Amino acid sequence: MSRESISTFDIFKIGVGPSSSHTLGPWRAGRLFLRDFYSPDVERVQVDLYGSLAKTGRGHGTDIAVQLGLMDWDPKTCPVDEINPTIASLKSDRVMLLAGKHHISFNPETDIVFHMDETLPFHPNGIKYTFWLKNSEVRSRTYYSVGGGFVVTEDEELGENRCVLLPYPIQHAADIVRYAELKELTIPDMVRANERCWRPKEETDAGLDEIWATMRECIYRGCHSEGVLPGGLNVTRRAKKLNADLMSGRSYKGFDQWVENMRYSSPNFQQTLRWISIFALAVNEENAAFGRVVTAPTNGAAGVIPAVMMYGHTFLGFTHEQLREFILVASEIGCLFKKGATISAAMGGCMAEIGVSSAMAAAGHAYMLGCDTARILMAAEIAMEHHLGLTCDPVGGLVQVPCIERNTMGAMKAITAANIALASDPTLAKISLDDVIVTMWETALDMNSRYKETSEGGLALRIPVIVPEC
Ligand code: SF4
Repeated sequence: MSRESISTFDIFKIGVGPSSSHTLGPWRAGRLFLRDFYSPDVERVQVDLYGSLAKTGRGHGTDIAVQLGLMDWDPKTCPVDEINPTIASLKSDRVMLLAGKHHISFNPETDIVFHMDETLPFHPNGIKYTFWLKNSEVRSRTYYSVGGGFVVTEDEELGENRCVLLPYPIQHAADIVRYAELKELTIPDMVRANERCWRPKEETDAGLDEIWATMRECIYRGCHSEGVLPGGLNVTRRAKKLNADLMSGRSYKGFDQWVENMRYSSPNFQQTLRWISIFALAVNEENAAFGRVVTAPTNGAAGVIPAVMMYGHTFLGFTHEQLREFILVASEIGCLFKKGATISAAMGGCMAEIGVSSAMAAAGHAYMLGCDTARILMAAEIAMEHHLGLTCDPVGGLVQVPCIERNTMGAMKAITAANIALASDPTLAKISLDDVIVTMWETALDMNSRYKETSEGGLALRIPVIVPEC
């Protein structure tokens, strides 16, 4: 079990699709390698990918991510529209602007090595960066992308947050219950107090607002973009057409008018369900198209939480401040799963992605509905209980099928779980959130590796031939 201190902004990171473990993690590892080992004398670089990163790396954009990382592009701020042309010219010119500072020759075909039959013992997502310098010195380091964009080495957890002593250290859900009873704190109270160890309240609020702004921009963009997703599977984007169908010709300009239209259309139950699905589809179509998304807690599951938040914002009138608190509650639940189990599909299959995001969303939604702490934790438990054993079997190694639709299911389960918890007596529950986290981890250990982001089992076998795009 991990004992590091994890911030809300470690769980929710603004980045680029399609995968937090296979895109964002290797990208961040490349920048960390630059930070610690870059020299103007570097003449050559090689990247070695192992395990799941090798097996599904091409479909997940790992090769693209490592090149952007080595050029020191920032995943939070880089212009996503320039990614494809930059990678295309790098491929044709075979020249890389290393660290954004000096040019070296780089051939992605040979300098990125996919070790398809080798998995490093420490973790299935291993990546080694190596520099060769003019004086023949060799600098090398191996990193592990352990889910949600988190990166570690075998010796240490990388990040500035790990040594911070928090006023409310939380390892288990039982700790939350204890602080709630002894100190009369809500979950947002606890998380806010902990976050103050890293930055002032105003900065935390600004960061929370930026997360919600990125999520809603992603939803809006996804609902107004069409075409076929990259990767060779020829998946057609659906969110735009579904949005147009429900809008029934009503005109609008920009996000706010769009939301007003939705509100005043008085949707029935079936239409509301469709809207929630559209929100989730929109985010994950953007994610699959290398768009800007927020890990929540991963990229593959990036649509669940925005869909539930957007539902609350649009149809239940959740305020700006309430949406901040939604994020705080959800992040603490994500931390519990990261510490007690995993948020890496390569370790735990899709229950580690969609399952965890659904539990996070269920807790956030339950809080918004007015649940007390026991019911909030109950909502998270219910949501995960019905994701246990969910396999990760992405067709063609792409984060598209079943991933995009699966986000709609995670959102629906989250809303259902929150409403069941709202109407229930948590003292009668037979399984606690801590029980289900332990069970999830034990289930992860029992799962065959074919169902852990390797594309060697399940649905991935039904459509075996993918023609990668140039
Ligand atoms: S199947 Fe689930 S865990 Fe696997 S890549 Fe898709 S969303 Fe992620």
